Amino acid sequence: MTAARLLIVGPQGSGKGTQGVRIAEALGVPAVSTGDVFRANVKEGTELGQQVKAIIDAGDLVPDELTSAIVRDRLAQGDAAGGFLLDGYPRNLAQVADLDAFLGGRGEELTGVIELVVPREESIARLSKRAAEQGRDDDNEESIAKRLSIYENETAPILDVFRERGIVDQIDGVGSLDEITERITAALTARGITA
Ligand code: AMP
Repeated sequence: MTAARLLIVGPQGSGKGTQGVRIAEALGVPAVSTGDVFRANVKEGTELGQQVKAIIDAGDLVPDELTSAIVRDRLAQGDAAGGFLLDGYPRNLAQVADLDAFLGGRGEELTGVIELVVPREESIARLSKRAAEQGRDDDNEESIAKRLSIYENETAPILDVFRERGIVDQIDGVGSLDEITERITAALTARGITA
């Protein structure tokens, strides 16, 4: 059996948050979403929240040092000792280097990367729906376009790094929630990552 030290990656609107929580729950590891951490801080009006609100609303990336420090703190908590599922981090090559250094210091590495593949038109349609339902401040047209372009230019290249390590599973992200969860579970099982 392989420890579940996982990353889920996909364009905004790919459903990675929902699938990440489902998979983490099934495996009994914490789901760590940097987007959720930032949003919770904005909502509570913490100092971190005040620092990042404008950046997030504009669809830009929060500075790497700040984001990496938050993830390090979170992964140092006891519940992440046996495994974790990262959602939304790392998101560029600098963050990959930060995470590698941190995990390497513990004698660990990522064991699996789930790449959710969703066509651009489909993710835009889902984001517009989410904007109407949830009213997220960063789900406006300008911010969505910026986030999708950051995904293509900065986040997609991290997948090449992980592909070279042989740990990426490409999962078709179009279908019912259950179908997609099953696809991911099957791919992880094939890697020896099971509950
Ligand atoms: P998400 O919920 O993953 O789409 O993240 C929402 C927003 O939080 C992003 O558009 C960024 O502004 C910020 N954010 C989340 N994760 C990161 C990250 N790894 N690096 C920098 N900014 C991030």
